[in-house]
This record gives sequence, C-alpha cells and structure tokens, in this order.
Amino acid sequence: MAKVLVLNASYEPINITSWRRAIVLLIKGKAEQVEHNGKVIYAEFPLPTVIRLRHYVRVPYKEIPLTRRNILHRDSHSCQYCGYIGEDLTLDHVLPRSRGGMDTWENIVTACVRCNVKKGSRTPSEAHMHLRHPPRKPYSSLYFEVTKHLKSGLHDEWQKYVIGL
Ligand SMILES: [Zn+2]
Repeated sequence: MAKVLVLNASYEPINITSWRRAIVLLIKGKAEQVEHNGKVIYAEFPLPTVIRLRHYVRVPYKEIPLTRRNILHRDSHSCQYCGYIGEDLTLDHVLPRSRGGMDTWENIVTACVRCNVKKGSRTPSEAHMHLRHPPRKPYSSLYFEVTKHLKSGLHDEWQKYVIGL
C-alpha cells in the first residue's frame, strides 16, 4: 500500500509511514499535506505522499548495523573499484585487516571477486585501484528506507525532500 514520507517542521525527512497513519495526522491537524498523488480517497481529500509535521520533533539518531547486506545496499550492489554489478560480490577492507584495517563503514566496501583478488593485501593506491566513492557511514536508517523506495521507481516526488540525506 502507498507509503508516505513524513517531514519534520523543518522539512527534514524523519520517517516513512502508511497512508492511513498519515491521514490520521492530517485529520488531527498534527501535519499538513505537502504532496499528493491526485488520487482522492474521500471528497476533497487527495491521497498524501508527503506530509509535514506542524511541530518540530527531536529525532534520536538510530545506529545502522554494519552488516554485509547494509554495505551492499549503501554501495548499490556494485563493485566500488570497477563498477561491476552482479552476483558474487564480496566485501573488501580498504586498508587490509592484516595491516590493521578495522571493521568500519569507512573501511569496508563492496568489491567483485576479481578486484578483491587483484587488490590482495594492498591499499587502493598501492594497487592503483581507485574507489569510485569514498566509503562513509550512512547518515540515518531513514536513508536506507528512502533510497530503497526511490530505486524501485516509486515516489519520485520524494526526491526533492531527500537531497543530501
Ligand atoms: Zn570489481
């Protein structure tokens, strides 16, 4: 069922909710409609796709677990050295573990088997293999949810609210 992006009063995205919950917030006057998809559920009540809370709420930072699945998602399931997309992706320690590299968001990237083997226990500069994107910690777990929706081609109207998320 249709999902709704919830913005804080400051226009920062803070949550994704169901359209039913979004409508309750609108009816109670706790939120205002920012975007809708034109489909009408009740008379003069278009189905919201983005709503904004009237009052600012503090959102605690939610830690994102450092898992294989989450790293693959951050890297769009593509090798960060050659851009390969497909099966058999591995995780590569940018600074190899044998040389003190840690398990962190900044030190683990998605790599295809070929690149991983080729790089071996060298750093990217020693191996003359350049990272396409410097690996970083995602800002929030919301980022993961929102990018999944955007990649699926749904909710293109969310795009302008999530720049830099
Ligand atoms: Zn590769």
